[in-house]
Amino acid sequence: MSEVLLTVSSEELTPETAPGTVYDRFAQEGVLAYERCTSCDSAIFPPRVLCPVCGGGVLAWEASAGRGRIYSQSTITRRDGSSYTVALIDLDEGFRMMSTVTAAAGAATAIGDEVVVTFDTEDEQALAVFVAAASDTKENTLREARTPAEVYAVFYGAINDGDLEGAVSVYTPETIFVRDGARLDVAELRTRLAAMIDTDPRVRPVDIRVIEFDDHAFTEVDVEVERNGADGARVRTIGTDAHVMRRLEDGSWRVLRGTVVRKGEIVA
Ligand SMILES: [Zn+2]
Repeated sequence: MSEVLLTVSSEELTPETAPGTVYDRFAQEGVLAYERCTSCDSAIFPPRVLCPVCGGGVLAWEASAGRGRIYSQSTITRRDGSSYTVALIDLDEGFRMMSTVTAAAGAATAIGDEVVVTFDTEDEQALAVFVAAASDTKENTLREARTPAEVYAVFYGAINDGDLEGAVSVYTPETIFVRDGARLDVAELRTRLAAMIDTDPRVRPVDIRVIEFDDHAFTEVDVEVERNGADGARVRTIGTDAHVMRRLEDGSWRVLRGTVVRKGEIVA
């Protein structure tokens, strides 16, 4: 856990200790600060007066190391044709924030990519923005999901990278996926994923729903897939899959069972 920079009680709030003011002050110093509840230990972002999890009013400010992974992203094109990417980023300390991300020159960022914070000080306020972490920290790293939702980041990030083994790594040896009444084991899933990767897919989880209980989770994901169709033209579909996941003894989450809830329908 990070060093505590400052502890603020909601009962002794002053203009100087208002959440937004404290955040901005640390940002000016090049520190990405977040709050942690002293009652339930939840990491809190954006800054608040009360813990959104337990309602606790004593929050400790800590400094994030500024490293995280892209949970979801969306590229926005301006009228002049230039574009920028807005992403939800899961920081290593356990909070999620929205920001812009910039890839290495000539590349695009993908879900699951590691990013690191930097501060844009062009305006008066220092703005936290993220850049892709050096690629050597990404290559050949066995990516492990630390939450059920992160399983999707690992899985779809690997597919977008053309990394078949990375995608298969979210399964256990016993994993079964039911599709069209057939029970597909890991060997069959590997074959199908390899065929999918051959279509140069761009996969994006649009919405993830998780019900977690102890070491298991029920999850659903609405997923948008853009890939080469049979005639070579790009095809975009949206469908929904459901999974049962389990947390292994090493703390990582894997898929145990999966099925199709809604087959991918072609969208414009
Ligand atoms: Zn709390």
